[in-house]
Amino acid sequence: MLIIITAPSGAGKTSITRYLLQHFSQLAFSVSAATRAQRPGEVHGVDYYFMTLEEFQHKIQNQEFAEWEMVYEGRYYGTLKSELKRIRALNKIPILDIDVKGAIHVQEQYPEQSLSIFVQPPSIEELKRRLEYRATESAEALQDRLNKAAYEISFRHHFNKIIMNDNLQKACEEARHVISEFLQRQGFRP
Ligand code: 5GP
Repeated sequence: MLIIITAPSGAGKTSITRYLLQHFSQLAFSVSAATRAQRPGEVHGVDYYFMTLEEFQHKIQNQEFAEWEMVYEGRYYGTLKSELKRIRALNKIPILDIDVKGAIHVQEQYPEQSLSIFVQPPSIEELKRRLEYRATESAEALQDRLNKAAYEISFRHHFNKIIMNDNLQKACEEARHVISEFLQRQGFRP
């Protein structure tokens, strides 16, 4: 069983994921592997397992990933099978904060046991404003993310639920409600 939160970069899926983790003790964040540079304040093993391109490619060859994607030019991200196993051993449900293509792949592997939520930004203009405010990207990387966002939004109907994030608090509560129902259906106590 797993929960997938997906969206274009900047749509608010990380904030929603954090909110859900605070509200559901049954969930555990699935820490992805990534080859991008560590941002100030990020912790290895908490935010990501940061690794070199060589390490990542070695793990691809060893089939250590449940899914992986080159999310941005030259930058790889992936969900390690060992991470899902680690969370299952804790008797918890993994919550994955991953890109749209990766989300589609995971969902295909676990069609019955997964709940996927697509977080929709109100508009590309609003997404641009949020990414500029966040200021974690160079101008070129920001443009990359915006170009990709329009394409990703076109896949929103592949997911179990679409949540519009024009108000973060409202979007968090809606996600909480959807997950609560999913957990009850799966026989978990709310
Ligand atoms: P960021 O560099 O801003 O942390 O993440 C960039 C994008 O990569 C986000 O959309 C994030 O959800 C996605 N991402 C993070 N981890 C994974 C992963 O394991 N697999 C895939 N496919 N995408 C991921």
